[in-house]
Amino acid sequence: MPIDLTAQLCTKCALCCDGSLFADVELADDAEADRLEALGLDSESDDADIRLMPLPCAALKGTRCGVYAHRPGTCRSFECRLLKDAQAGLVTPQAALTSIAEARERVRNVKALLVRCGFTDATLPLRERCAEALAHAPVKGVRAQRAYAALENAMSELDWLLERTFLARRRSK
Ligand code: SF4
Ligand code: SF4
Repeated sequence: MPIDLTAQLCTKCALCCDGSLFADVELADDAEADRLEALGLDSESDDADIRLMPLPCAALKGTRCGVYAHRPGTCRSFECRLLKDAQAGLVTPQAALTSIAEARERVRNVKALLVRCGFTDATLPLRERCAEALAHAPVKGVRAQRAYAALENAMSELDWLLERTFLARRRSK
């Protein structure tokens, strides 16, 4: 029987749902947005009138989708580069799980640094949180400056890892 890599990897990951990889999920149309709204999931329209569901996703429960049977079409069809590589046999499931664990550990570290810098709003996607924090980097105080420098460094290393491991060319889920 073939291994269900989605079940094996995605249930330990959720980086494409929790705001680490993407800022939103593109919805098919107003009908899909309405259907999700009935489940308690808000969406918004961008400048081109495309409906977007913001991330981190309110349906995420730990590392699992709380509306799995009703998730948007984009979520159903999305496969990150790591998952595709695992499906193609280019990386073993164990190596993929190690990459996921490393990325999640780095995300945790960036979030801890954000809190250290006083940015506790967990409703924003990670890059946005970091950009907002770094825009307010202090010009005085060695300890505070060190915390911001550590945040900038950690986010930059995380970005590189996410790009290389999980993203091909896509920028939105
Ligand atoms: S980032 Fe990839 S491995 Fe992780 S949950 Fe999304 S599709 Fe699955
Ligand atoms: S609806 Fe489910 S699969 Fe889609 S982003 Fe939210 S938690 Fe992830």
